[in-house]
Formats: sequence, C-alpha cells, structure tokens
Amino acid sequence: MSLLEIADLAIRFRVPDGQLRVVDGISFAIEAGEAVGLVGESGCGKTTVARALIGRLPENGRIVGGSIRLDGEELVGMREAQLRRRRWRDVSLIFQGAMNALNPVIRVGDQVIEPILQHETATPQQARRRAAELFERVGISANRLRDYPHEFSGGMRQRVVIAMALANRPKLLIGDEPTTALDVMVQAQILDLLESLRRDLGLSLLLISHDLSVVAETCDRAVVMYAGRVVESGPIGDVLSRPLHPYTEKLVSSTPDVKGERTIGRSIPGVVPALIAPPQGCRFNPRCDRAMAVCLEIDPPELIVSDHRVFCHAVTDDGRLPPPRDLPVLEQARRITEAESQDVELVE
Ligand code: SF4
Repeated sequence: MSLLEIADLAIRFRVPDGQLRVVDGISFAIEAGEAVGLVGESGCGKTTVARALIGRLPENGRIVGGSIRLDGEELVGMREAQLRRRRWRDVSLIFQGAMNALNPVIRVGDQVIEPILQHETATPQQARRRAAELFERVGISANRLRDYPHEFSGGMRQRVVIAMALANRPKLLIGDEPTTALDVMVQAQILDLLESLRRDLGLSLLLISHDLSVVAETCDRAVVMYAGRVVESGPIGDVLSRPLHPYTEKLVSSTPDVKGERTIGRSIPGVVPALIAPPQGCRFNPRCDRAMAVCLEIDPPELIVSDHRVFCHAVTDDGRLPPPRDLPVLEQARRITEAESQDVELVE
C-alpha cells in the first residue's frame, strides 16, 4: 500500500459563468519515503491538488469525485474536525511565499510552538524545546526563537516555514513552490535542506513546481499536469531524458541547461486553456505540433511503458514519440492564436 493514493480525483470551482474543471480525474501515488514532483504551468491545477490534500479548498471549490487515501484512510468526505486533526500531523504544507505564511506580529518561535500545542499533548516547555530542536534542524540558531519575521532574510523565513511544517512530525510534506522568489543560491540551500530532511526523517515529499530543474534536483519521480489532468508520469530521469508527452517535451526544452550553451529557453506557444470549457479530446491539442484528427475528438488513453505512463495518441506502443508533424504554417498559427485568445481563468 502506498502512503498516498489519489484515484480519479475531480475538483470543480463554482464561478459566475458555470464551473471550472480545475482537476479532472487525476490519479497518482506516493510511496513512503519517496519524493514526487508535481509539475506544470500556472493554472494546471497543482496547487488545488495540494489544497485538497490538506482539506483547504477555497470556498467555491469542492471535490466532486474520486478518492484520496493517506496511509490507507480515505480523506474525501471526512468531517472537518477529523481533517483538522490530520492536517499538520499526517500531512503538512509549505506555502508559497514565506512572508505570507508567517504572521508578522508574532515571534517566529511562537508560530512553531502553536501547532505543537494545538495538535499534541505537550506542555509549553516541551513545545518550546521541540521548536528549538526544529530551528537547529533547519539551520537556524535556537536563540532566534524570540525574533520577529522581519528580522530574517527571505531564505531564513522559508526555513522557519519549513520548521512550522515539521512541527507535528508529518508523514507527508508538501512544498508548494517553496523556492519561488528566492535567489538561486538560497534556492539550492532550501532544496538541499528538504532533501536532507526527507532522508533523515523518512518523510515523503510532494514538491510542486513549474520549474523542472527544481524537481530534477530533489525528486525520484515526476507527475506532469496540464489543464487539470495528469499527462505523463515516471521516474524523474526517464521523464527528463525521454519525455513521451509533447507538453513535457516542451517543458524540458524551455528549461535552460546550465552546463550547455548559453541560450534563452524556448517558450511554449499559446496558453493553458480556460477550464470552464476545455478543448474537446486532448486538452493540449491547440498547442500541439503533433496533433491529429483523433486528438480533437477523443481523450487519449493511458499508455504504460514499464514505469513510464503517458496520455497521448501519438506515442507508439513501444514508447516512442514521433517527431513533430510538419503542419502547414497557417494551421499552426491558427491553433496558437485560438489557444491565446481563450480567456485564462486564474484558478491557483
Ligand atoms: Fe495531445 Fe494529440 Fe498532441 Fe498527443 S499528439 S499531446 S494526444 S494533441
């Protein structure tokens, strides 16, 4: 049994014009001690999955189908009081943007102590001792427990947020773009810290990022989402070196190679479609340079090639992605213009 099993999960957001199909039947699993990267552009549904895992969807969002099992226990349909008990203790989240996650007028130590007192039967002294240990564990001197957030740099604040997320010794730690807004040196330090915490504490990690290089550093497997669906998943090395889905291929080629020639990463033409009425068939079809007639009509089925899974009509049974089709220039321009002209709803 996997630590986390997500099966056919579907989440809708109510908006004035109808419903956004933000997450539409996704499935993936995380084993105990494993690190999985959930990648895709903004608006693909990654943060919504994280929020569903901690039972914190926005008010207009609800789970309409599927299952989330954590350590064998079903979270979908669980009452709020039960979910609250599990939040932080079984699964915790490192939010995007450390400054927003910390209360600026409360001492950082007290912000780490609070979840310990709330979720465990610890005395204030025991909770303070644990907070001091956690500070040392994430590389902050324990004598800074009485400082306020504004007295820390961005990287140090992110370390405080990680200490908070670890306060109740969760089994699964979710990092939602935990290094966004940090410079590359600090970003590398935070990723190293997450990796060492995972190893030393036996945690499972779900790392959410639009940046494949971040996931490549830290994760064992990658799950690629596009427009509310999983389009590809597999061992990180396979996905990066032999992407099978045209979207993943474009994500990989848009990531600059620090060891290669100095080039500007290629952008992916078009935008993620509006999820109120996503394209029929494969949702990537307006941006895809391999699209065929079938792609405009029928959802691609899942193809499994050893550990690698992909949803694409173009991939052959033995796991090869043929080169892009030589679509007439006008046809390509039409597809890209159509994709760009769709209003993107901000869902994350
Ligand atoms: Fe989608 Fe078809 Fe392109 Fe595959 S080839 S990504 S199914 S549009």
